Amino acid sequence: MPQVSLIKTESYDPAEVERAVARHFELLGVEAFSPDARVTVKPNLIMRCPPERTATTHPAVIEAVVRQLQARGARRITIADSPGGLYTPQILSAAYEATGMAAVAGRTGASLNLSAGSRNVHVAEGALCRDFDVIDPVADADFVVNCCKLKTHCMTTLSCGVKNLFGCVPGLLKPQLHYRFPDGEQFARMLVDLSVLVKPGLTVADAVDAMEGDGPTGGRRRHVGLTAAAKYDGLYALDLVLAGLIGLGPDRVPMLAEAVRRGLCPDGVSGVELLGDPLPPVIEDFLMPASKKLNFSGSLPGPLAKAVDWLEPRLAPRPKVRERDCVGCGRCAESCPAKTITVTGGKAKIDYAKCIRCFCCHEMCPVRAIDIRSVPVFRFLSKGR
Ligand code: SF4
Ligand code: SF4
Repeated sequence: MPQVSLIKTESYDPAEVERAVARHFELLGVEAFSPDARVTVKPNLIMRCPPERTATTHPAVIEAVVRQLQARGARRITIADSPGGLYTPQILSAAYEATGMAAVAGRTGASLNLSAGSRNVHVAEGALCRDFDVIDPVADADFVVNCCKLKTHCMTTLSCGVKNLFGCVPGLLKPQLHYRFPDGEQFARMLVDLSVLVKPGLTVADAVDAMEGDGPTGGRRRHVGLTAAAKYDGLYALDLVLAGLIGLGPDRVPMLAEAVRRGLCPDGVSGVELLGDPLPPVIEDFLMPASKKLNFSGSLPGPLAKAVDWLEPRLAPRPKVRERDCVGCGRCAESCPAKTITVTGGKAKIDYAKCIRCFCCHEMCPVRAIDIRSVPVFRFLSKGR
């Protein structure tokens, strides 16, 4: 039975986080490292923004993880991620500064990855995708610590342990994967393939302050007061437990549904051995993304189901640029897998005919000038979901 440890962690006070992370390492029996082992700590640094925005893994969690690794003999520790957008040393450096990683490296002696190299890695167990380009510090690591943030996500509903590993794919190769797998279920299969390739030895989830609503960057802070951790065999179970805590069953999170289908994840929390503090009650009013699509055609008779299939893409939520707030930076166009955004006269414009509704543009807009809008009937039908 996969194990997941849960520790009540009410604040980012360094001493409290350090105690919590130390307890996770003890409960899971994380072993000593050889001083030569290359250990990569992979936070969620989705964009250049301060920790208070709750889009990125809090530096207090990363610092506590680095210190636990060092206490177990690890000497070659690198903090690495590929945020959204271009993957260059300058962009990495700016992201490390803004997210607090540079300060963590300064205090602990861990290295920051500033090389923009990557290489192709084959995953024989891949069900859909067997070759991935992966950033060097992950491809070369002996042990990866996946330090994710609990967030809702406009496309995948949940961002936690499995989704965080998408940042192992360098820069603009991420939108290419969105374009290759525009369908949510296929995208989820690809993400599970990637997680099987990376096989993080340990996942530590920052759910002290989570993000609810239009995550992974446009939502709002929601205090949960928890950290969670699991070794690789509990990666999917960790997502299952935290998804359940915010009211999402595996049927509503495509990566979890896929992991359950493949036998990588139990289909309920009763199949998980919980360690540490008791699982808190479900947060019933945790806000879901506005993009949450309805899928009720399966329960309708044939002709009606066909009508709904035709209507759904026309009614479903889509990104909408708020012109007055757009600063014309072009990040949305750069990240759009369908190349359907142009910036003219200093304002972004979307050609909806080609839009695959991946919401990468919404995710990457630094000034949150892209809303997710749906027609009123969809908003009405979406109520309470
Ligand atoms: S919508 Fe946002 S990301 Fe796109 S050009 Fe405008 S400000 Fe930049
Ligand atoms: S416009 Fe936005 S949602 Fe549509 S394909 Fe481009 S990035 Fe994805």
